[in-house]
Amino acid sequence: KKEAEKNFLNKPAIMKDGTEIKIGINIGSQEFDVPTDRYDFIGLFRTEFLYMEGKELPGEETQFEAYRQVVQKAKGNPITLRTLDIGGDKTLPYMELPKEDNPFLGKRAIRLCFAEKELFLTQLRAALRASAYGPLQIMFPMVGSLEDIRKAKEYLNLAKEQLKERKQQFDEQIRIGIMIEIPAIALIADLAAEEVDFASIGSNDLTQYLSAADRMNPEVAAYYKSDSTAMLRLLGFVFREFSKREKEISVCGEMAGNPETAQLLVGLGARKLSMSSGNIAGVKAKLAECTLQELTALAEKKL
Ligand code: PEP
Ligand code: MG
Repeated sequence: KKEAEKNFLNKPAIMKDGTEIKIGINIGSQEFDVPTDRYDFIGLFRTEFLYMEGKELPGEETQFEAYRQVVQKAKGNPITLRTLDIGGDKTLPYMELPKEDNPFLGKRAIRLCFAEKELFLTQLRAALRASAYGPLQIMFPMVGSLEDIRKAKEYLNLAKEQLKERKQQFDEQIRIGIMIEIPAIALIADLAAEEVDFASIGSNDLTQYLSAADRMNPEVAAYYKSDSTAMLRLLGFVFREFSKREKEISVCGEMAGNPETAQLLVGLGARKLSMSSGNIAGVKAKLAECTLQELTALAEKKL
């Protein structure tokens, strides 16, 4: 089976009826090594590694160099850079983070960035500068409300102003987006879509928060269900509201890289799936087996 799947690896993901699904990759550092004929976009560039590796906060130049390297390696394929998602299970050796009873419900990701203004602005400036070298867009993690989105945009505007003052180049039309991984933002996808250029569904956290089951705890694995009717209804709503407004919507959680749930996502309306590169062949092979109509029917049944 694995051998047969390999035939699909370097080809676009085309379904039996000709529908093309765009395939993205998730990367965790600039060291990635995936040939560009295997993917159409980098749907998730996790930037935590830069912060977790060193002995101190990475400076603007260090980050800029890393981000620019990714842009160059992607050879014109669009890249979604996600701003720092630290906290929760991930800590930094050199930075005192609050001890919390429930770190996954705590000062994580964008919440921490809002509190650490300089840290956030430094990363935004580095990302903006890399956008002068190719199609890079910025995505904010753990957004829970329209206020969060607006606040993040204010920080981005501030970073742009700082670069203008320094006369440094960046893409003035840079696209901004959000992760949809908190149920509260998924439920107002219609309103959120008006505020952003794109969104990507983080099904790992969305499942965890929707089902109140820790994604890391094997004791509650049976409660952590990304294909529950509740989850599928919510996903269907998000795809519909973004598609209606012609706003880009993709999925970058593990659901996108699992052939069975990838089928469900397409049936619910997804046309862009981003995954770890090891899952590309399996997902492409599975999608080639069926038509869009069949997957729509499959999703309908599940709903
Ligand atoms: C997710 O939550 O689905 C996601 C892609 O982000 P992370 O796994 O980095 O939390
Ligand atoms: Mg997440």
